[in-house]
Amino acid sequence: MEQQDMFDKDELVEVHTCVLCNGDIEHQKTPDGQVFWNRGHNAEPLAEGACCEVCNNTKVIPARLSAYIGKGEQND
Ligand SMILES: [Zn+2]
Repeated sequence: MEQQDMFDKDELVEVHTCVLCNGDIEHQKTPDGQVFWNRGHNAEPLAEGACCEVCNNTKVIPARLSAYIGKGEQND
């Protein structure tokens, strides 16, 4: 797999904090162990900032789905 230098490597060792549970955001790694993403998931619409994988799956995605379903079709 080709390595893309999109991010500063120093930034990728930082551990960010989940805005929803205050836990650590997991580093996502390629199969060969290189961190390629450490900023988790967008926590909106629940909060501004980033959240961890668990919160994304258990809180953010359900909130987005229910917000989407709740809105239905709106015409301005
Ligand atoms: Zn979390």
